[in-house]
Amino acid sequence: MKNNKILDAAVKAVNKACIVTRKVQADLTQIQLLEKNDKSPVTVADFAAQAVVIHVLQEALGPIKLVGEESSDELRQPDQQTLCQSVVEAAQTVWPEATMDQVLDAIDQGGHDASGSYWTLDPIDGTKGFLRGGQYAVSLALIENGEVVLGVLGCPNLSADFDRSFNDPDPEGLIYFAEKGEGSWFVAANDQGSEPERLNALQNVGLIRVCESVESGHSKHDDTARIVERLGGAGESARLDSQCKYAVVARGQADAYLRLPTRADYVEKIWDHAGGMLVAQEAGMIVSDIHGKPLDFSHGAGLKNNSGVICASPKFHDQIIAAINFLGIGR
Ligand code: AMP
Ligand code: MG
Repeated sequence: MKNNKILDAAVKAVNKACIVTRKVQADLTQIQLLEKNDKSPVTVADFAAQAVVIHVLQEALGPIKLVGEESSDELRQPDQQTLCQSVVEAAQTVWPEATMDQVLDAIDQGGHDASGSYWTLDPIDGTKGFLRGGQYAVSLALIENGEVVLGVLGCPNLSADFDRSFNDPDPEGLIYFAEKGEGSWFVAANDQGSEPERLNALQNVGLIRVCESVESGHSKHDDTARIVERLGGAGESARLDSQCKYAVVARGQADAYLRLPTRADYVEKIWDHAGGMLVAQEAGMIVSDIHGKPLDFSHGAGLKNNSGVICASPKFHDQIIAAINFLGIGR
C-alpha cells in the first residue's frame, strides 16, 4: 500500500464520520427525520456526516470538489432550527469547535457538478437500515474523468465475524478502502489507528450464495430468487442495506450482490456505488450492470447508461448474466 496523503485523508474523514453516525444511531429515539422531495428519509446523522467528511478532507487537502447526497437547503429553513442545532451538536463530537455557519457551509461544499475530477459522498447509504438499527455505510470515492480511482467504505455495524447476524450491529465496525491497482484493504472503524490488512477473499467452491437489498423497492427479490434457482443455488439470500453488500462480496462472505431493477426508469446514483464498486473490484470481483456492461461514471451524478448492478466473483459473474438473459430480466 502506498503512503498517500489523499488516501489517508479519505480514510480519516470516513472514520470520523462513522464515529458521528454511531453516536447518533446509539440513541435512535433522538434521531430527527426529514422527508426529502423524493420521499427518502434523511437524518441528523446524514447531514453531520457530510459536514465532517468535507471538513476533514479540506483540512488535509485544501479546497475540494465534492458531489454529496445532501444539501443544507432544508436545514436553513426557519422551522428547522432544532434539527439544525442537533446536526451541529452531532458534528461537534469529532469537530469540537464547529459553528452552525461552518457546518452548513461544509455541507454545501458537496454541491459541485459531477464532471472532471471530483469526490462523491453518500454520508449515510442505507438510511433505512440506519433507522432500523441495522447495516449502513459511509461511502466516499474519488472519480477522475469518469474513472473511480479511490474508494472508502465505512461499515460501522459490520462485524469481522462472519457468523454475526447482519441485524446484530458490531460494537466496532470496519472500514474498507481501495485505490485503483493497489488492492483492497480494511481496518477497524475506531480512532485507534490500527494497521490495515489486505483483503484476500477465499473463492467459494460450493453453491452460489447471494446478497441483496432489504428493501423490495430497491431490488426485485423475486428476480433474485429466479436467478438463484436457475444457477442451482441453495438457501435464502442474505438481506442487508447499503453498500456493505459490496464489502460482503469483496471479503468472500457471499458470491454475488444482485441489484435487479424494480422499474425501468430508475437511474442509480454514483454515490450509491462508486466506493463499494472499487473495494469489490480491487478484491478481484467483477462489477457490471444486469447486461454485463461496466458501470459508466462519465455521465454526471447518475449511472444513466446502466441498469441495475451485479457484483460477483469471477466464478459466478458470467453465469448470472447468462441467467438474466435466459430469464428475460430487465427486458
Ligand atoms: P439499499 O440499501 O441497497 O437498498 O440501497 C439504498 C439506496 O437505494 C438509497 O441510497 C437510494 O439512493 C437507492 N434507491 C432509492 N430508490 C431506488 C430504486 N427504486 N431502485 C434502486 N435503488 C433505489
Ligand atoms: Mg445511498
